[in-house]
Amino acid sequence: MNFDFSKEQQSFKEDVRAFLTRRVPPERQEVFGVEYDGQYQFGREVASELAQRRWLAVGWPEEHGGGGKGPIEQAIFNEQMGYGMVPRTGITGLGFVGPALMVFGSLEQQAQYLPPIAASEVEYCQGFSEPNVGSDLASLELRADRDGDEYVLNGSKMFTSYVYNADYMYLLARTDPQAPKHRGISMFIADMKTPGISLRALPYISGAMAAQTFFDNVRLPATALIGEENRGWYHAMTTLDFERSGLERYGRTRRAFDDFVEFCKTTGLNGRVISDSPTVKHKLAEIKAAFDVWSLLCWNVAWLQSSGAVPNAEASVAFLHGTEQRLKFAQSAMEILGPHGTLRGDSQWAPLRGTIEGIHRESMHLHGAGTSEIHRNIIAQRGLGLPR
Ligand SMILES: Cc1cc2nc3c(=O)[nH]c(=O)nc-3n(C[C@H](O)[C@H](O)[C@H](O)COP(=O)(O)OP(=O)(O)OC[C@H]3O[C@@H](n4cnc5c(N)ncnc54)[C@H](O)[C@@H]3O)c2cc1C
Repeated sequence: MNFDFSKEQQSFKEDVRAFLTRRVPPERQEVFGVEYDGQYQFGREVASELAQRRWLAVGWPEEHGGGGKGPIEQAIFNEQMGYGMVPRTGITGLGFVGPALMVFGSLEQQAQYLPPIAASEVEYCQGFSEPNVGSDLASLELRADRDGDEYVLNGSKMFTSYVYNADYMYLLARTDPQAPKHRGISMFIADMKTPGISLRALPYISGAMAAQTFFDNVRLPATALIGEENRGWYHAMTTLDFERSGLERYGRTRRAFDDFVEFCKTTGLNGRVISDSPTVKHKLAEIKAAFDVWSLLCWNVAWLQSSGAVPNAEASVAFLHGTEQRLKFAQSAMEILGPHGTLRGDSQWAPLRGTIEGIHRESMHLHGAGTSEIHRNIIAQRGLGLPR
């Protein structure tokens, strides 16, 4: 394993960092736990400028609107987007709808859907979870019944993040209720403007607004089916691993940590600088060690991708470690800050614009993209070959 960048990759990293430092100054950077429309719109503006440079999907082939480079360049870019605290947009499309289409989509679907994702012209949400279905995703109940040239969808999806900005939903539905549960599921892309789709707002503790999404006799054209009918489960499992590489998430959390260290070095509390305390020093040292490991685990996933492998247990190792260390960091930082740490970003007394309070709220989400237990199951079964 050699993590040195080539000269071109190093200069790409510096170019991206320089652009983001100029284009996203501190007052426009995202703060953990705070989401509002103006911030999202600014994120879209930045994303479309990045797309014009062919950086947004730098790892995608040029014919799909990408930069024609590989997973390492994409990972460099993603880490810089995170570290630059660029307001998050387009994650679902870039992170795994695009990769799924490149593997399973028809040529027509690739031509239709990929360039707008790479250009940041569209937003996607993900419709996997349902009111009765989370970890046991293969038990999903949303029905998609074939009717001539259309599929008719009935049921609902739960925890649909980003849905209020979404143009499309990337979803799984049951197309064969008689088949064993994994073999009766298909993957679709639904235009959110299709009649019969409605939303019930669902606020997250992180400050984001998601929804339960209802489908009431929603008619999708048969061309909305991605890949083979009843193979959706297998398509989805392959592409979920794309979401789990996690360098963007690492970069964003690392930035919060680096800022926090600086804050501890320069801020006085009870008559002395915070970082003078041996307890604080040890806590920060522990977090640094854990985050350095997290970085290596993420880069291992990127490196595997660049060698043509589809990381699986490795992606779960990186994700699990990152999720748990992010929570530990947030808890330690809250302890160090004491009561001030609980202030939200709208208070003038909130340290670091409330970012620690925000990351603490956000890191309590241990369910997004698979719970810690599910990642442990994957590591045990696929990484260690243990029985189910
Ligand atoms: C912030 C956030 C954003 C999300 N965004 C989306 C989204 O955009 N689209 C979407 O489709 N979904 C989304 N989800 C839903 C997410 O995918 C589910 O929360 C997740 O799959 C877990 O399902 P559940 O919450 O129903 O928990 P459950 O599956 O009911 O699990 C409950 C508990 O039981 C444990 N458990 C379950 N099964 C096992 C097992 N086999 N072995 C050991 N322990 C087990 C779990 O680890 C958990 O602790 C989001 C969730 C969060 C928190």
